[in-house]
Amino acid sequence: MIDQEQASTRSATPRPSPDPRWASCREQLRARGLRWTPQRRLLVEVLADTAGHITGAELVERCRVLDPATIPSTVYRTLDVLEELGLVRHAHGPDGREEYHVLPRTEHGHLHCSGCGGSWDIERAEAAELVAALRRDRGFEMDLSHLTISGRCAGCAARPA
Ligand SMILES: [Zn+2]
Ligand SMILES: [Zn+2]
Ligand SMILES: [Zn+2]
Repeated sequence: MIDQEQASTRSATPRPSPDPRWASCREQLRARGLRWTPQRRLLVEVLADTAGHITGAELVERCRVLDPATIPSTVYRTLDVLEELGLVRHAHGPDGREEYHVLPRTEHGHLHCSGCGGSWDIERAEAAELVAALRRDRGFEMDLSHLTISGRCAGCAARPA
């Protein structure tokens, strides 16, 4: 009951104009054979409010707060289609866990520090030599957004183990 009230209050408040790329989301999902259900609409609302990286489990949790009936498999299946549409992009944490980027600005990889748990973006320019070497020597086209490197950041590396 309380959740329903919160949900209606939420949708009644004027939200900052969403990124135009979300505007045709409903039609694009329908074109892929996915009905525009309340759960899918809720997921899209949660995503449109999200900045940076978010794991699938965190997304399920945020949807559950607003709608306790949220079904994780529906969230993950919808995420797959939203990724095909270019609205989200997944990468992997050091443990292999999927992390989603909402409306990724540029393609980038990730550095993860095993000491402090910090993470940083690897920009395309930083990866340029590796990208070029793999292409030249192996004819391999690297997917930078899927690259995650584990190690220790400067601060952790300077500290005695
Ligand atoms: Zn992957
Ligand atoms: Zn560190
Ligand atoms: Zn990232």
